[in-house]
Parts: sequence; C-alpha cells; structure tokens
Amino acid sequence: MTVHNSNGHTNGGGSNTALHVVIVGAGLGGLSAAISCSLAGHKVTVLEQAAKLGEVGAGIQLTPNVTRLLRSWGVYDELRASAVEPHNIWFRRWQTGEAIGVTHLVPNFAADFGAPYWVVHRAHLHEALVERAHALGATIHVKSRIESIDFDVPSVTTTSGLVVYGDLILGCDGLKSVTRRFFLNGNDSGPKETQFCAYRSTVPMDALLGDPELRPLVEKPDLHLWIGPERHVMSYPISGGKTFNMVLSHPHEGPIDPTATQEQLIGEMRNNYEGWDPKLTKIISLIDKTNKWKLMGYERLKSWVHPKGTYVILGDACHAMLPYMSQGAAMAMEDAAALGRVLARASSPKDLPTLTKLFAEIRMDRAYEVQARSALNGRIWHYPDGEDQVARDAGMAATLTGEHYIR
Ligand code: FAD
Repeated sequence: MTVHNSNGHTNGGGSNTALHVVIVGAGLGGLSAAISCSLAGHKVTVLEQAAKLGEVGAGIQLTPNVTRLLRSWGVYDELRASAVEPHNIWFRRWQTGEAIGVTHLVPNFAADFGAPYWVVHRAHLHEALVERAHALGATIHVKSRIESIDFDVPSVTTTSGLVVYGDLILGCDGLKSVTRRFFLNGNDSGPKETQFCAYRSTVPMDALLGDPELRPLVEKPDLHLWIGPERHVMSYPISGGKTFNMVLSHPHEGPIDPTATQEQLIGEMRNNYEGWDPKLTKIISLIDKTNKWKLMGYERLKSWVHPKGTYVILGDACHAMLPYMSQGAAMAMEDAAALGRVLARASSPKDLPTLTKLFAEIRMDRAYEVQARSALNGRIWHYPDGEDQVARDAGMAATLTGEHYIR
C-alpha cells in the first residue's frame, strides 16, 4: 500500500491554505467544489474513477443561479463562445404542438436575476470547469476509484490500495455514491426509483433547418417543452446552435434491459410518443441513436456532514432529483459555492466541525425544497387530459398574452 502525501503544509500568517480538501468524483459537483475550495485558498486533490475526464449526455440547462456562479469562478467567458442563450421556453400541447404558455428569458432573466439562462453541451461545461480547477492549482487524478473512507484519520483508499489523506473529504461521487455508504454506516438503502426514464438524444440542427415544416420551430434559439399525459419532451439547441438536444421523459418501472439494441430503443421511443404533435414525431423520426436513462432520486438525509467535520457529502450523492426544474447540477454547484464560502473562514482543521455544520444548515432545506418542486413540476406537466389539465392550461394562457410573467 502506498501512502500518498498527507497535508504537511501550514498556512503562512493567517491565509487559508491550512486545509487539504480531498474530493471524490470529478463530475460537475466535484469540479465546482474544486474551484470554490481553491478560491477559498485551500489545497485540493480530486480523485475520479473514470480513465478519462468527461460527462455523460449532451445538453444541460444552466439557469441564472448557475451562470452567476460561473462568472464569479472565472468560467463564464470560457463557456460563453459555445453557450446558447435561448429567448423563450415554449410550453406546447402534446397532440398539436400548440403553445399553451411561455416564459420569456430574454431580456427578462438577465435583467431580473443578474445573469443569463444558457443551454450548453455538458462536455463544454465540464472542460471549462476542469481547465479552471487546474489553473487554480487543483490536482485531478483519473483511474482513482475510491472503495473506502476513514473519518478518524481523514483519508480515502482507492481500489489499487493508494491511501490519500486530507483534512476534509468531499463525497461528490453522484447517484451511486460509495462514500455515502460509509457515511451512513451500512444503513444506506440506495437511490429510489422515480418510475420515470428519459431517452437522451441529439439531432443535427442542419437536418431540422433544412425541413420547411420544422425550420420555423427551431430557427430561433428557444426551448420547446411538449407536455402530455405521463410524458414530456424537453428540447433546445446546444453547441453554438449546431445541435438540437432532446430529453424524452416517460414512465418506466423496473430495470432497463442492458441488452436492448439501438433499433429496439428507438422503436420503443417512437411508440411512447405515438399520436403526439406531428412536428415532434417528425423530429423523433430523425433520431438515429439514443440512450435510455433511469431517473432516480434520494430521500432526505438527516445530515450531510460527519460530526468530526472530516466529511461532507454534496450533489447527486445526497439530493439526486428528477430533472424537471433543470436544477440537479445547479444544486450541486450551489452546494460547492456555499462550501467554498464557509471554508474561506477556516484557518485550521479545528474549525471544520463548526463550519461544515454551518454549510449543511445553509444548504439542506434549499436543495430538498428544489427536489420536491421538481417532482411537483412533473405531476403538473403530466396531467391526463381533463379538468386539471384544462385548469393548468387556462392558467398558463395568460403568459401568452403578456398579462402574466412567470417568475
Ligand atoms: P455526477 O455527475 O454523477 O458525478 C459523480 C462523479 O463521481 C463521476 O465523475 C463519477 O465517475 C465519479 N465517481 C463515482 N463513484 C466514484 C468513486 N467510488 N471513486 C471516484 N470517483 C467516483 N441538472 C441541471 O442543473 N440542469 C439540467 O438541465 C439537467 N438536466 C438533466 C437531464 C437528465 C436527463 C438528467 C438525468 C439529469 C439532469 N440534470 C440537470 C442533473 C445533473 O446531470 C446532475 O444533478 C449532476 O450531473 C450531478 O452532479 P454530481 O457531480 O453530483 O454527480
């Protein structure tokens, strides 16, 4: 067994370099934490299980709470070139595509919230975060899967037997978190089924622009959300407008068949949206590759921090949620920002029990509230046609005439 460097360095005259923060997982949450903890003046080591740094899936929506953070972290300008700033979110009736509501994003969001609403390719966001974390001095190790954690002598051990010591371990290891299992001391029942899955797919924008029927729908950089019984489809342009990203949410119970071929998945996807807006089904017919993704969630944990102050869990590992408010990564990034702010006050490991407790107090209610609201969005979007749906659509109609602005 090799013993990696422990935190030998001390701070010089009151700076915040007293801590070594070891981050498990280089996803969007872990990288954000690497940036915020580095900016707070601490030494950061990130351990990622994958052989190569990267992200799964194509598109991600970044609401102003995220773009504001990206600006304060020095990531905004790097990402701006490939980001799309959509003008509107159109809510569409499932059968006809008729607009039933709209949220105007430009100019309202930047004016009201001080930062824009962006849609980006996940790979671009991930790369920008990696670059900034490196520039701030964080070290990122790939092929480093953590299999155990020690809270007494704060350290993690990789599958190859490497022990990495730190003052604070951050569990940013996502939905299948290993560190969470140790934190809960064997009492972790794992992520819960939501009864939903999503197909994640892209279509080249040129294919849509070249079709006279589809062109008017996609020529403006807008988001389109078709809502209907038990299902919805969220779509938007990414990669500077070159790619049309689609997330098709539908009910599904039980495991996903790992042997399903692309042909089977695409056939199943088309069946799921049979009878929907002809423009939407035309777009779906252009999809030649898809991933089927199980949507899982976590129930509220009693705490996110170890009483000794040596471990903090954040991101999907503690509050995985339905993506129906586009806030899963946003909450992980807010967690990271809040942690950076409290750790800026740490001048020695002795401060950690108080400061990590403060972090959890700041973050837990907010993240679980957003998790609950995401589920509520799903219930409202997925009304079967009938009384509730009619009332919902009547309420949203005011947004089309400008009488009501959704905030
Ligand atoms: P992850 O992204 O899962 O990262 C965990 C990292 O830890 C991975 O790199 C993994 O390889 C690594 N790891 C795991 N175990 C170990 C180990 N033992 N040792 C070392 N490394 C390990 N959110 C938004 O804000 N906006 C959106 O528009 C949006 N859309 C979504 C659409 C869909 C269909 C889905 C499914 C989710 C969406 N989300 C969205 C949610 C968002 O993707 C997640 O909330 C976010 O990626 C969570 O980040 P994380 O860093 O906590 O976890």
